[in-house]
Amino acid sequence: MRPGDRGPGGVTPAKVTDFTTLSGLLDLAHDAIVVRTIEGTVLYCNRGAERLYGWSCEEATGQTAHQLLKTKFPVPEDEIRAALIRDGQWEGVLTHVTRSGQSVTVESRWALQRGSGEGAPVLEINRDITARLAAEHSSRTGERKLRFITDSAPIMLAHCDRDGRFRFVNRPYAARFGAEPHELIGRHIQEVIGETAYRTIEPFVLRALAGERVEVEREVHYDALGRHFMRFGYEPEMDDSGQVLGFVAAIQNVSDRRRAEEAERLNRERFEFVVNSTEIGLWYCDVPFDVLVWNAKCKEHFGLPPDAAVTIETFYDRIHPDDRERAREASDAAMARRRPYDVDFRTRQDDGRFKWIRAFGRVLFDGADRPIHFDGATVDITNIKEAEAQLLERDRRKDEFLATLAHELRNPLAPMRFALHLIGSGDQAPDTVARAHAVLERQFRQLVKLVDDLLDVSRITRGRLSIEKRPVPLAEVLTAALEATPFGTNSAQQELSISLPQEPVYVAADPIRLAQVFLNLLNNAAKYTPAGGHVELSARVSDGAVAVSITDDGIGIAPSMLPRIFDMFMQVDLAADQTHGGLGIGLTLVRQLVELHGGRIEAHSDGVGRGSRFVVTLPVAGASAQAAADPSGSVPRSAGKRVLIADDNTDAAEVLEIWLSTRGHEVRTVADGEAALSLAESMRPDVLLLDIGMPKVNGYDVARRIRLQPWGKPMTLVALTGWGQEEDRRRSREAGFDHHLTKPVEPSAVDALVASAGS
Ligand code: ADP
Repeated sequence: MRPGDRGPGGVTPAKVTDFTTLSGLLDLAHDAIVVRTIEGTVLYCNRGAERLYGWSCEEATGQTAHQLLKTKFPVPEDEIRAALIRDGQWEGVLTHVTRSGQSVTVESRWALQRGSGEGAPVLEINRDITARLAAEHSSRTGERKLRFITDSAPIMLAHCDRDGRFRFVNRPYAARFGAEPHELIGRHIQEVIGETAYRTIEPFVLRALAGERVEVEREVHYDALGRHFMRFGYEPEMDDSGQVLGFVAAIQNVSDRRRAEEAERLNRERFEFVVNSTEIGLWYCDVPFDVLVWNAKCKEHFGLPPDAAVTIETFYDRIHPDDRERAREASDAAMARRRPYDVDFRTRQDDGRFKWIRAFGRVLFDGADRPIHFDGATVDITNIKEAEAQLLERDRRKDEFLATLAHELRNPLAPMRFALHLIGSGDQAPDTVARAHAVLERQFRQLVKLVDDLLDVSRITRGRLSIEKRPVPLAEVLTAALEATPFGTNSAQQELSISLPQEPVYVAADPIRLAQVFLNLLNNAAKYTPAGGHVELSARVSDGAVAVSITDDGIGIAPSMLPRIFDMFMQVDLAADQTHGGLGIGLTLVRQLVELHGGRIEAHSDGVGRGSRFVVTLPVAGASAQAAADPSGSVPRSAGKRVLIADDNTDAAEVLEIWLSTRGHEVRTVADGEAALSLAESMRPDVLLLDIGMPKVNGYDVARRIRLQPWGKPMTLVALTGWGQEEDRRRSREAGFDHHLTKPVEPSAVDALVASAGS
């Protein structure tokens, strides 16, 4: 029905004017306005109703509204109608179906126009709330989804306003503080997490509220939860104008990860500490060799500073050119054929020298059998290599030595055999016999020296060489040595000059062993100095030590040989006409003996052909020792002693008797221990030279029994034996012997002992 049309109930034109005005007004409303009878017959509807339901006013008028719109009521229609009549109004939510079949939900308000009497019309205003409901529904669904997602995220999420109050927290966040999410809403952060924790994070909260995105990891002390490493991410929330409204916080407890990292770091540091405090270098490579990681020790092994950058080129560059191929092959074999990598090579150092390095490692392969990593270690084996080389050299020298030894042992035998033959044939001229005797004497000495040296060497190598020291005048020792050298005979081929200090010098020494030192050096000087040359023996005291020099102007020593001249089996390779026999052990012995005396020895030479000098430096014995010894410092005169020799080898006894008699001593010999005892008692000798292995009473027992006698105490008892080991010396000492000489005895040694007896 349009204004101007005839209205139901006889509406007058005047009313129409009103109604026209009213109707215009009603058309302005958005809501659907319907005027109907209480039964539902439509009397009027505005444009809003036409728009909402799709029916024009004309079409709708006269129809029953609830049928036309297939209205669904929240309660039975009768009840509504009863309420309307009772209260004059009703309101509720209804569902209508529009002309096009769409369902719309409306908020409906009804009013009964009572004043109109019977058949009073009902005014109905319907507001379409379909869109709002849908929006509300979708917003509720969205929120549920959001909560579902955030609650199941393994991270604490919170949304705070600009005052630091929670507007949203997910369940993990609330659970951390023992609460339900809704319990935290509206509360301040500090109130929830505690004051201590808040102090730690406040600066970051403030930065977020200043509009900054913040990511930070801190150890936080929660009053209720203890210390934890937390990771915070703050995202400021801004409106369109850039005003900060609050922030979203994403928070994770990273304590486990930090603890693992910390443990890992500690382990790595420990590992590195241990490795770095050893001599082991470490290297890691990715294959192909793009990245090489070497620790400082490994770099050191390659002569590089700790901060040096390393490439595969560096590696090969530092390796000795002769070893590069071997290193490359080892690496190829490890990668291509899965061979264990273990190779040694020399590496160049900055000073131009080379180190021997052993490198070992392994290759790691991926699932497709491709090499991906090549890791390992390096060790400096320079010392081992040098020791190996030394061992080889020693071995070589020992072989040479054995060959020389065989040669040296055989050498004297031929002339000795001849000499014996000459003497034995009986009808030789005295001169020939004397010469043959001299030959025998020389060769014999040579043999004895060889055997003695050999025994000494074996003692040295077994660490069994020991000496018994007592204060002795140096001059005595030197004289004893000189007497046994060619210089002490007419056959000397070099001129010897001697220069010793005026005052007597005493050294703490085993006189026989020390004499052996100078004997060796003097013999060498004679051996290695051509006939007509000069040898000088001199001694000088300074700073409590005496330096004895033996200088010659002979063949000299090449500088390269000097440092090794004292090594065992060392012999300088000489031209054939310069060789002099010998085993190359003399100087080794000499050095050992000098060191046993607390001294040292040095060899000097300006080179081949320029002579040599050997200097033995020994500590001078103290004043009391000097006082106790012979103040004259001269060699005791070898005369006037009474000597008793007991030896069942009558030849040996006889030779000794002749020798000592010629030296001006009174000598008697016996062939067994019993005879020795009885003669000793009647003769009261100054010196007894006793063989050990004798019939009837052995040498030890003779010595013991003599020592028991009052007259036997001052006698000098000398053991003569084939056994010279330390054990044998100890036994003879225990039996009461003063000295122990090994057979064949050196006449000069016997001479020295007899001469010094009783002094
Ligand atoms: P040997 O003399 O038995 O060969 P040594 O140990 O006494 O053994 O000496 C070792 C080497 O030292 C000798 O072979 C010799 O080449 C050298 N030598 C020793 N003394 C001298 C010296 N006075 N002059 C030159 N060379 C010497």
